Amino acid sequence: MSHHPALDGFEIADDVLLIGGIPLDRLAERVGSTPFFAYDRKRIADRVARLRAVLPKAVRLAYAAKANPMPAVMQHLASLVDGFDVASAHELSVALDTGVAPHEISFAGPGKTDAELGRAVATGATIELESFLEARRVTALGDRLGIRPRVAVRINPDFVVRGSGMRMGGGSQQFGVDAECVPDLLRELGTMDIEFVGFHVFAGSQNLDANVIAEAQGKSLEMVVRLACSCPGPVRYLNLGGGFGIPYFNKDRPLELDRVGENLAGLVETILEPHMPEARITIELGRYIVGESGVYVTRVLDKKKSRGKTYVVVDGGMHHQLAASGNFGQAIRRNYPIALGNRMGCGSPETVDVVGCLCTPLDLLGQDVDLPNPQVGDLVVLFQSGAYGLTASPTAFLGHPAPAECLV
Ligand SMILES: *Cc1c(COP(=O)(O)O)cnc(C)c1O
Repeated sequence: MSHHPALDGFEIADDVLLIGGIPLDRLAERVGSTPFFAYDRKRIADRVARLRAVLPKAVRLAYAAKANPMPAVMQHLASLVDGFDVASAHELSVALDTGVAPHEISFAGPGKTDAELGRAVATGATIELESFLEARRVTALGDRLGIRPRVAVRINPDFVVRGSGMRMGGGSQQFGVDAECVPDLLRELGTMDIEFVGFHVFAGSQNLDANVIAEAQGKSLEMVVRLACSCPGPVRYLNLGGGFGIPYFNKDRPLELDRVGENLAGLVETILEPHMPEARITIELGRYIVGESGVYVTRVLDKKKSRGKTYVVVDGGMHHQLAASGNFGQAIRRNYPIALGNRMGCGSPETVDVVGCLCTPLDLLGQDVDLPNPQVGDLVVLFQSGAYGLTASPTAFLGHPAPAECLV
């Protein structure tokens, strides 16, 4: 297998990959069945520690539950980060079950139901308003419950940041309120019985370019300073979103986190402290915190040749790890880092396609990958599977059983 930065830091003993210090074949026995996801608690803690070391002390670090809402992962993170970002009532419940203080939870996302908003108001979470109508619904719910809702305004920025994998701000968007309309909303909020705490801006996900992230954070802060004079109260909360990327493909280079940290420190000093002294910046990350901590483990069921090509068929597939298969036929499909976890490197290399067990040609987990002569029973590991894996995949597609998940 060609070397990939994703594998740095994974230990190997006697040619077997270790997850959380446990040899993969032993872990598979303990879990009892393949396929499964395994998340390494130390790698998650190390990643948070690295973020803490690099981000300015004044920055609050939150975890975005949708990247991986496994309750054990959330519980582990509850002791490491300052709060959670949730995007559904279910995620709100999982977050509350960890014992985190409700005011350390923010609730974002378009299309929140009255039931969801009511629960968020009742618990005292910060609701990130995505529209004028949502602001009015939240106020009405607060009146009915006799509780002042705590709200922030999600802004759709008036700038576009190029270079992120998935744009979530700028131009026309279903997210947030267009920056030029925010003063009107703020005036309306001033007449409502709500507690306004600040703003949320999120420019895009899976960003590997520190300069692009730095530029987006700088422009976001300048935009908020311009809006601050229209606010019904001081800005105390300034959520700059997530979006730090991780390297999936061979040409990807890891994000230069130091550069992001230096830039943020400069912004705190030159913009935040002089203009919004009461504001605290929140960075809320999903993928960057858990993505590299997780592996998806499958077992080889069959090996066959077809007209010159060798296929290795495994017992998992796109129904559990959709993104690794190429998201239902994305334009250019590229391989996630992949290995034989029970035999890291011994055996003569062989170029194969690793396919899943679903009856569709889209179920491809590795194309023309070099693996050491894979055999039936070997454990095929997909790395970078800790974020947007199981809960972002079509698990009902073809009706196979759900995989196990473990945190070790
Ligand atoms: C998804 C999401 C995040 C996390 O995004 P990552 O790219 O995983 O860091 C943060 N905030 C909000 C509002 C989100 O929807």
